[in-house]
Amino acid sequence: MPAAPGRDPIDLLIAGGVVATMDERRRLIRDGAIAIKDGRILAIGKAAELEPRFAAAERIDSSGKLVLPGLIDGHNHPVHFLSKGMIDDMPFPARWQNRVWPYEAGLSAEETEVAAIGTMIEMIRHGTTCFADPGTFRPEAVAAAAAQVGIRAVVSRLTWDVHDPSAPAEYNDTTESALAKGEDLIARVGGSAGGRVRAWFSLVRGAHVTDELCRRVKTRADGLGVGIHAHLCTTPGEIAAARERWGVAPVERYRRLGVLGPNAYLVHMGWIEDGDVALLKDADASVVHCPSASMFGGFGCVAHGKFPELVEAGVRVVLGTDAAAVSRFLDMVRVMYLTACAHKDVKIDPTVIGAHKALEMATVDAARALLWDGPDGIGVLAPGKRADAIVLDTDGIEWQPNPLANPIGNLVYSSSGRAVRTVVIDGRVVLRDRRLTTMDQAAYLGRARALSERLMTRIGATLAPRWPVQ
Ligand SMILES: [Zn+2]
Repeated sequence: MPAAPGRDPIDLLIAGGVVATMDERRRLIRDGAIAIKDGRILAIGKAAELEPRFAAAERIDSSGKLVLPGLIDGHNHPVHFLSKGMIDDMPFPARWQNRVWPYEAGLSAEETEVAAIGTMIEMIRHGTTCFADPGTFRPEAVAAAAAQVGIRAVVSRLTWDVHDPSAPAEYNDTTESALAKGEDLIARVGGSAGGRVRAWFSLVRGAHVTDELCRRVKTRADGLGVGIHAHLCTTPGEIAAARERWGVAPVERYRRLGVLGPNAYLVHMGWIEDGDVALLKDADASVVHCPSASMFGGFGCVAHGKFPELVEAGVRVVLGTDAAAVSRFLDMVRVMYLTACAHKDVKIDPTVIGAHKALEMATVDAARALLWDGPDGIGVLAPGKRADAIVLDTDGIEWQPNPLANPIGNLVYSSSGRAVRTVVIDGRVVLRDRRLTTMDQAAYLGRARALSERLMTRIGATLAPRWPVQ
């Protein structure tokens, strides 16, 4: 469309409603607007000021709605979409040894890509615009899915160099090979999909990585300016095993190995020691809390974790869903609710964490943790930033009677990701009025159901209810 005289042409104008910027002052702009051009935010302010300045190729009316930076799912294994339901109410280690490991190890490139697409569709529909994958065997297929669906992602190659006879052979790698595969992924996939897909190293979990791998991964990650995505301190059994094998608790082990630092991205962390809070703060490391996975899986991270203490100490704590089979939902608003509320109950204190902090964790804090917070980064709606934004309806009864009086409280405490109406990633509208623009969801689901059935049969899992079906 030719620009009107005196008006600058832009790609997209989101206009109306309350814009929660998540900028340094955490400004909420009523009757706000965002001007977007070439995938970036060009200007943000009052709609009355921006509308006359720009001629937009597309205008999204967000009157009466809430506009937020896209939510960031800090930890998700996207290949689990086709296995949703396979570990319901199962004990460990059977849930890993009989289900998760055989499922993951047996996935072809095609199955990986199809599974990842389902995760990404579910994410986008609930307002997630970026996620971090802790590692699969076929991360190129995850990156290909992200390119196709239009989501932003940080992918990794799973690294595991401590031989475990209870795991499928695919997991048991050598140090040299694990490092080489991680480096190769970063070289080939990092910065792909127009910069939307980045690649990191992984350290799968403390029990399955040698000291040598930890040291070398850290050196290479520092050299390449990438992060290290690592499960740690997930269950009490892991702590006892670490003391026995390495002679020291997991966080202290990583400190001694030099792994801790701003690019250390440590997931679950429900069983840290008292002194670890200060170690993590001193190292400026990031912690990823996955409350739904812990509650669904009985990890004990909510009941036993020190997340309020970490937040209080100024440690960066961000949020994740973990996986479709491991959380059962990928809605970051529900994860924010659990984070905002569960620790109030544990501490018997209604002032703990709360809605505003939970939203910071899923946006601005997550961007910093993913090393994606520069002037052209994500997690904040401000000029120069990449244009990842979501528009949420606030007309549902759960938002009433004062939907925009405190939209952050209403979102986290009363609503869910089902309120998401429109999603913009890198300036591109990927969900418009609840319709995906990049995928045919019905056609996709036909393919996903057939593959899921095949995969569940392959690993001997049943998705049937416990009760008789007539
Ligand atoms: Zn995980």
